[in-house]
Amino acid sequence: MTRISDLLSAGRTYSFEFFPPKSDREQLVLSQSLLELQPLGPSFVSVTYRGGAESRLRTQNLVTGMLHTSTLVPMAHLVCVAHSRLELAEILVSLRRAGIENVLALGGDPSSDPDSSPRELEHAIELVELARAIGGFSIGVAAHPSGHPASADLASDRDRLAEKLALADFAITQFFFEAEEYFGLVSDLAERSMHKPVLPGIMPVTGLSSIPRMARMGAAVPQWMVARLESAAKAGGDDGVVRCGVELATELCQALLEGGAPGLHFYTLNRSSATRDIYRALGLAPQLSGMRADSA
Ligand code: FAD
Repeated sequence: MTRISDLLSAGRTYSFEFFPPKSDREQLVLSQSLLELQPLGPSFVSVTYRGGAESRLRTQNLVTGMLHTSTLVPMAHLVCVAHSRLELAEILVSLRRAGIENVLALGGDPSSDPDSSPRELEHAIELVELARAIGGFSIGVAAHPSGHPASADLASDRDRLAEKLALADFAITQFFFEAEEYFGLVSDLAERSMHKPVLPGIMPVTGLSSIPRMARMGAAVPQWMVARLESAAKAGGDDGVVRCGVELATELCQALLEGGAPGLHFYTLNRSSATRDIYRALGLAPQLSGMRADSA
């Protein structure tokens, strides 16, 4: 097994994020995407977590399946909500027993599951402490370039992030659309003497309908991008929007890499085509030149 902190010490990492399938249909889509993304040779892959007993098994089954049946290096997400401290400790211990060495420690958003245990850990930093106490993990945390939506102000959010990152090994950001947002975050952390790697999270906009949802998640698509996507829609319909979204994400990735980002983390939404197209445009995947760009 490989620790992400060691990979980051050795150089840039390129990683993909997936969510655990909830139906046979979703399972098929994920299996196909994994088949198509594995040849890109990601440094690691991560699997999201929703609070509650069912999600606990889904995430754990997927990461252990990846560990034992592929060459992928998996990271399990884990959230404070919907579990007692003891349950979280049990999950961490069972991940370690299964051979998982990488965990993304998150606050999580309030759970709607009526059967979930009351939340005992308030903030992600407490989960980082718990994972450290159990030992053997490389630990990542979340970062929010424009500040967490619930934060009173940006400065205090950056203070909390610097404290959390001091105990963790690396951070992965919420998606964002302009390189300055990422470099602003990195420079705010540097002012707080925090220099650990922060991986930028990349989410291409592949449909106009996703724009309001992204804004609700605290990552508003800037107006100049909306204008470019809308004119792509007029000229080329849905396909035009996808092509434009991939182009915009590629430009963002180029700016991030040129500015010294320690890697790229792609939110795949369990699909492969946009990530493969961006990889190809960045020149990261020459071996894929014969692969169909429209599958998935
Ligand atoms: P925290 O670090 O706890 O921060 C939350 C808020 O509390 C912030 O406003 C912060 O400033 C404040 N805060 C932090 N520490 C303190 C403190 N000690 N005292 C006072 N205030 C404090 N959600 C899921 O449910 N499942 C997932 O798999 C998942 N994966 C994600 C992956 C990435 C890369 C990212 C960026 C987010 C992910 N999320 C996921 C969403 C995340 O759970 C939410 O954004 C959540 O609202 C905050 O999580 P956090 O880890 O940033 O929380």
